[in-house]
Amino acid sequence: MVPMQVFESCHSTWVFDTERMRFRRILKDASVGAHPVSTDWRPYFGLEADPEGESFAVLLNEDGTRLLRSWRHTTDCLQCGGHVTAEMSRAELNSALVR
Ligand SMILES: [Zn+2]
Repeated sequence: MVPMQVFESCHSTWVFDTERMRFRRILKDASVGAHPVSTDWRPYFGLEADPEGESFAVLLNEDGTRLLRSWRHTTDCLQCGGHVTAEMSRAELNSALVR
């Protein structure tokens, strides 16, 4: 079992492979047939989640000067008003990851 950390943002599901230090995003709005669309794996160097809020940052280089920021989607989401459908099921996630 690969150790994974999963964050839901409004428009994608972020999957972090904490062992190999790589991540990918599965896009919620774009699916081809029944298959979710996901990005390729990209390396990352750290993950910083705001303990007080819903924002998180992905470090794209070793000294953290390149960052990707996003927000976790919540039921009462401030970013999108909460109208985006919630989490992917584990089965959907697996089917997106094996491809
Ligand atoms: Zn949202």
